[in-house]
Amino acid sequence: MARIYISSSWRNSYHQQLVQELRENGHQVYDFRHPEGREDNNVWDDLGINKEFITPQEFSQLDNNEVAGKRFADHFCAMNDADTCILLLPCGASSHVEAGYMAGDGKRVFVFCPDNKLKPELMYRVFNGFGFYYRKEDLFAALNTPIPGVCRVCGCTENNPCYHPKYGYCWWVDENHTLCSHCAEKLTIGRKHIPGIYDDPLTEHCINDIGNGFKFKNSRSTIDIL
Ligand SMILES: [Zn+2]
Ligand SMILES: [Zn+2]
Repeated sequence: MARIYISSSWRNSYHQQLVQELRENGHQVYDFRHPEGREDNNVWDDLGINKEFITPQEFSQLDNNEVAGKRFADHFCAMNDADTCILLLPCGASSHVEAGYMAGDGKRVFVFCPDNKLKPELMYRVFNGFGFYYRKEDLFAALNTPIPGVCRVCGCTENNPCYHPKYGYCWWVDENHTLCSHCAEKLTIGRKHIPGIYDDPLTEHCINDIGNGFKFKNSRSTIDIL
């Protein structure tokens, strides 16, 4: 299970389908069109800027724009809290900036092009060596490779652990740190078998999450960013 930020364009016709398919495969996905379940418009439509080009003077006036600042903060927080980026082609400059930032932050980035044509780019080699996919099956198989430091069942990390009032915070049960104690089906603590912490209603997985994949817990507050 990965926590995925899809970098793509409003014009990409495959985006909503990919969100749905990834969720059906058990992943958490940030959907920039429906953050926290609400429908967002394209920010440029909201700002009344729906022409292809504006002047540098017009653009510089957006620096203090509240709508643009808020939308940026939503996306940026989700990027920080995801562990994986899918750069879904075709898409524009903002999406490429997002993917580059996430790669530089040590996150996995997969370039995915379900279309039958694309513009070749040398620097895609920055992403996982050459993390390029055009077949959905291959992309999904790559996504299912466990990430060290992320629980493969619930997606918890050391900064976002699980908690049970009796057993406390979760810990790693495997050498590679891909399975947490609160997801392991049956645990032995001392000599005692503890069945089913995973399903126990008292267990809270990923305590710092504030949503169900529409929006992740902000690792840096909106104030810090703006
Ligand atoms: Zn877990
Ligand atoms: Zn955990």
